Amino acid sequence: MTTAQTTFADRHIGPSPDDHARMLARIGYADVDALIADAVPAAIRTGRPLELPAALSESAALERLRELAARNRVLTSMIGLGYHGTITPGVILRNVLENPGWYTAYTPYQPEISQGRLEALLNFQTVVSDLTGLPVANASMLDEGTAAAEAMALAHRLSKSKEPGAFLVDADVLPQTIEVVRTRAVPLGIEVVVADLSAGLPDDGALFGVLLQYPGTSGVVRDLAPVVAQAKERGAQVVVAADLLALTLLRPPGELGADIAVGSSQRFGVPYGFGGPHAGYMAVREGIQRQLPGRLVGVSVDAGGRQAYRLALQTREQHIRREKATSNICTAQVLLAVMAGMYAVYHGPEGLRVIAERVHGHARALAAGLRAGGVEIVHETFFDTVLARVPGRAAEVVAAAVERGINLRPVDADHVGVSCDETTTAEHVGLVLEAFGAASAAAEPPAGDQLAPLCRDSLYLTHPVFHAHRSETAMLRYLRRLQDKDLALDRTMIPLGSCTMKLNATTEMEPITWPEFAQIHPFAPLDQARGYLELIAELEDRLAEITGYAKVSVQPNAGSQGELAGLLAIRGYHASRGQEHRDVCLIPSSAHGTNAASAVMAGMRVVVVKCDAGGNIDLDDLHAKLGQHGEKLAAIMVTYPSTHGVFEETITDVCRVVHEAGGQVYVDGANLNALVGLARPGEFGSDVSHLNLHKTFCIPHGGGGPGVGPVGVREHLAPFLPSHPLRAEAGPQDTGVGPISAAPWGSAGILPISWAYIAMMGPDGLREATEGAILAANYVARRLAPHYPILYTGRSGLVAHECIADLRKITKDTGITAEDVAKRLIDYGFHAPTLSFPVAGTLMIEPTESEDLAELDRFCEAMIEIRREIERVADGSYDRADNPLKNAPHTAEQLVGDDWKHSYGREEAAYPLPSLRESKYWSPVRRIDQAYGDRNLVCSCPPPEAFED
Ligand SMILES: *Cc1c(COP(=O)(O)O)cnc(C)c1O
Repeated sequence: MTTAQTTFADRHIGPSPDDHARMLARIGYADVDALIADAVPAAIRTGRPLELPAALSESAALERLRELAARNRVLTSMIGLGYHGTITPGVILRNVLENPGWYTAYTPYQPEISQGRLEALLNFQTVVSDLTGLPVANASMLDEGTAAAEAMALAHRLSKSKEPGAFLVDADVLPQTIEVVRTRAVPLGIEVVVADLSAGLPDDGALFGVLLQYPGTSGVVRDLAPVVAQAKERGAQVVVAADLLALTLLRPPGELGADIAVGSSQRFGVPYGFGGPHAGYMAVREGIQRQLPGRLVGVSVDAGGRQAYRLALQTREQHIRREKATSNICTAQVLLAVMAGMYAVYHGPEGLRVIAERVHGHARALAAGLRAGGVEIVHETFFDTVLARVPGRAAEVVAAAVERGINLRPVDADHVGVSCDETTTAEHVGLVLEAFGAASAAAEPPAGDQLAPLCRDSLYLTHPVFHAHRSETAMLRYLRRLQDKDLALDRTMIPLGSCTMKLNATTEMEPITWPEFAQIHPFAPLDQARGYLELIAELEDRLAEITGYAKVSVQPNAGSQGELAGLLAIRGYHASRGQEHRDVCLIPSSAHGTNAASAVMAGMRVVVVKCDAGGNIDLDDLHAKLGQHGEKLAAIMVTYPSTHGVFEETITDVCRVVHEAGGQVYVDGANLNALVGLARPGEFGSDVSHLNLHKTFCIPHGGGGPGVGPVGVREHLAPFLPSHPLRAEAGPQDTGVGPISAAPWGSAGILPISWAYIAMMGPDGLREATEGAILAANYVARRLAPHYPILYTGRSGLVAHECIADLRKITKDTGITAEDVAKRLIDYGFHAPTLSFPVAGTLMIEPTESEDLAELDRFCEAMIEIRREIERVADGSYDRADNPLKNAPHTAEQLVGDDWKHSYGREEAAYPLPSLRESKYWSPVRRIDQAYGDRNLVCSCPPPEAFED
């Protein structure tokens, strides 16, 4: 007898081998190989198993990660450049960042089960709006650099002129921001001019926008009002990239006349993570809020007239607007925005001001000490960053600081920048003075502060939420109260098609908060980040092996950003061959909305290819479009398996004919969970893909981010991968397309999660996960098919890793919509499947390999019981307008109310299945009125009176 060893794969994959056998029997297969042979077209199957290291146990993986972590060296970083030391309050670290109740939630598209995180995001929006002095802020951007680039695009859209002129960028803007802006400007045909604006705008030339940094990268704080006024006179939109902590003291951009403020909220309690993830932000003046990119949380009402939150204007986002969308952002930085918002809730306005004053005080002490020691200070007016002139001595000073455990910023041979932050102490200041050789000169700062005339007198964070949770007990309970309102993966399966809500294992999550990963500044000397570089190189290589590509870059910090990077690579490749005229991007009608939006950002024209009745790319239409656009063809962008959840047999033909026409093939890799170990896009004809590490590779969705969207390419596109101005190691320097993200390796801080997943699954576990995902989807499809038509299937009547339940005929016959079913599922304790994407009036279900058989059955039984309820509507036993489906979800308050007047019982409303008696999720609100909220746009914390009846 041998004792069975439980591997990580056994834990990650929900059903046991016996359960798998039962599931196979249900769909009529003897074994999984036979199922896969029928489901996956032979033409795309790989002949080569994954060549990856054998699976590590959970403890062995942690040991290896500890080794890698030990190769990073944690120094105190006073580098600045947009990233600052910060203290994550323990109550936020443990109860948000390390808490699956928060990190495993999905984007709040279903607002009824998302009230907790929506409130947290509304706090974040209020923080940004108050501190910037602008009325509307969104619920996060991907980082500061991309936020600035999005602001440029917004300003460009606002300029009505045919020749809008240039986007003028002050030379004191963060260097990585300038380059991200340049990368984005090129394909849009926008001219970017970088100039020193300290003495005002240049006299000539048309401008549509101006970008300023506040405080500047050099640390200088200037009164921006004069240059803002000049710019407005010239008809330009003014974008100010501002530091939120500085804004607790300084006059905010809104009061200086800025139209748009952007920046990062990193220093509000979010660790460096070697570059991310952090929440960027954007706030805008009145009148342009409907142009705001990204997601916006707003206030609306529920069916009972109660205040409730939901994503505002969301239906206008990509799925409907596509190539007219305001941006391609889908996954954003929700978890980090929640953390930053909570940091402000915990400290309140007074606490933030105390932190800011302390930081400023250390900077003043440092400047005074340097001056007393004979070191010249370049700018007299600063907040946290002191720029010192040390002719010819910069390298020496920086090295002396490193010896003392501190990283400074070597600006050039003659200048050193020193940034103080929340973690700075008087000892740090003393050590820095020593490094400059100015130690003995410790001096009191002068009495008058140069900053004083630029200080704000307007209030901020006056809302009660920023005053009510100051004790740790109160904060703990506030976080718990919000968490309890939401449904995340820690309570139920989230069967969202196209989103791959699989297990985010604890072992995968553990390393991300280790100081050796969390506390590394993105521009720390690389010899302090050896462990990171090794981990990143291994991860990129393993992803290349999995996808069949030559090279992978992890820089893009979401799928949408990977799309842009991939399309820019295609653009660069065509241009390198003298074919810059190729600008048509073919996109099937079933594509995810980000595809079209990304193509537009890459300077391409979107041409839609039809799908046939079976949901497949219509080859006749493809040929017609190829003929029509001929020499103009740049690329086709297809999702594989398709967004319809099927393995299209014709994919290899599609790749071939597009190549023959001179185009490149982009396979959107969001559905890679159906391919890993079975097929490689790089082998079956694709040239480039992005992957979503927050789908297939276990980074949690965080309630709508963070994500990582690596881009993989074949050899000929490798020269055109993202690069970075401050890090030659991050990509091809001469030929690269420039940075796609502000940080060299994007959201490096969460890469250990995917590294751990691959290491612990090993080659066989990864393949088994794929097989398990396909099996689970087919099992669910088979169980639901008698009750709901399954819209598309491939050969042998099988689906890939997800299936679409078609409600349209049911809706026609009974009036019950897919949305009604989605909301009724809440009463059954489930998060809805993907609603009305890619086909309106349907539900797309993706169970993933991680859900065990009991949970799959619980979901199927809920769906089947709901179908019976629909039958009762059809046969007249339920009223067509007043029934448990139309009124779903039901709240406890409504059910226990004395005025229950519905034509069905309370019990059947709340406990339609016996299993619910054991565990019941109560929706905190009734169904939310989406249109009301869009008509009455309120996007910051409503005053408490608004909650009174
Ligand atoms: C999720 C998804 C994307 C976008 O990825 P994000 O990380 O959310 O930006 C693109 N295409 C498809 C098919 C997807 O499912």
